[in-house]
Amino acid sequence: MNYKQWIEESAPDLIESLRGCVQIRSVYEEDGSGFPFGRGVQDCLNYMLSLAAEMGFATYNLDNHLGWCEWGEGEEMVAVLGHLDVVPEGDGWQMPPYEGRVQDGKIYGRGTMDDKGPTVAALYALKALKESGAKPTKRIRLIFGLNEENGSADMKYYAQKGQQTPVFGFTPDGEYPVINGEKGLVNAAFRCRYAQPGDLVLTYIKGGTAHNIVPAEAIVWLQCPPKLAEQILQRPQTAEICRSRTATGIEIKALGKGAHGGTPQEGINAIGLLMQELQALPLAPELAAKVNFMAARIGTEYDGASLGIAQKDEISGPLTLNLGTVEGGENGFEVKVNYRYPVTKSFEDCGPALEQQFAEAGFEKTWFSHKKSLYLPPESELIQKLTRVYHECTGLEATPKAIGGGTYAKMMPNTVAFGPIFPGDEVREHKPDEFIEVTRLIENAKIIAAAMYELAK
Ligand SMILES: [Zn+2]
Repeated sequence: MNYKQWIEESAPDLIESLRGCVQIRSVYEEDGSGFPFGRGVQDCLNYMLSLAAEMGFATYNLDNHLGWCEWGEGEEMVAVLGHLDVVPEGDGWQMPPYEGRVQDGKIYGRGTMDDKGPTVAALYALKALKESGAKPTKRIRLIFGLNEENGSADMKYYAQKGQQTPVFGFTPDGEYPVINGEKGLVNAAFRCRYAQPGDLVLTYIKGGTAHNIVPAEAIVWLQCPPKLAEQILQRPQTAEICRSRTATGIEIKALGKGAHGGTPQEGINAIGLLMQELQALPLAPELAAKVNFMAARIGTEYDGASLGIAQKDEISGPLTLNLGTVEGGENGFEVKVNYRYPVTKSFEDCGPALEQQFAEAGFEKTWFSHKKSLYLPPESELIQKLTRVYHECTGLEATPKAIGGGTYAKMMPNTVAFGPIFPGDEVREHKPDEFIEVTRLIENAKIIAAAMYELAK
């Protein structure tokens, strides 16, 4: 049987399998269960492994860090990387987040698009190839990742344990046509300390929720004599800064605009605004020096210009920088930053310069993570094959694109992100009422099957 026909006839089963998967709340949890990523994630892995086994595939569980099923013969292996963990449902749902409700041609629920839908579609794609009588020369391994949303410790474990590297791989956890470039991704935290002799004392400062989100709000409490509080209240009014009296002094709130850390130009950084406001106040000298550094070298910038690390390339655009959080009080504060450098650049082009400036300003680095940029030229074999598959399946133009985000592709050699979102489709990952259209689910299964075969034939 033709694999496309098999997928179409199996659509009701595919939908039911996805619904079952969505009904398991596989959010990362330190729940004392003894499973590396918590009970929910583990249950979801077991669910997928037994589904794969029922379909007749060999399955493997790598110490509960991830699992896979595999089909075919040959020394070499082609990998498809999906993930079963999901971000928490959050607020604002009209639909039940863990029911898998099918309504008006859509399947609703956390993970339907990111990434359970594409992963279940990939399992059916593999089965469709098997049923079609195809005889690929390489093995096809469908990997069920479990920690994509929380640092990809699963893929690190896979590498650590010396598991096989694919000759070609893709992860249906990005966009079509294909993502051939991902910016380098750096997260870092810096802490400073200070003494505050004098009349004006910062007792509390807090802003932002995560390193990779543009902070919409930041707040500071200052302790000071009534006369000084009065002077601060008299400062010129702006829409972004709210000042109010407290029992012991004054509270200042900065209002920015939230955005994803990968597109900081769409937001306004509230911590930057707050630092600029604080810069104008008669703070104690040690604190003033730290605040001046934050206000002058970053402030509300998102391109690293005043840090001297602004850079860009043709393929992926400019370096972006986000000052994500600040938290502290009387003796010190800590900031978390997230920056993404262009795909043809390296950490050496920006990281050391940034770190040196924080060090010179008296900050100590307390946290650091780095994922290198990824770039495969359009003429490379993997990109050629995947763009051809996409074009043949959809009839659409297939120009590879570069993104600021990070996928599993960064964690596995010879791998790029391919699908599942089509150009122009609404972005719904990590949002309330996440969904996948039934037609898109089926289309994904067909494209994934075609890509598996093209890479493994
Ligand atoms: Zn994902």
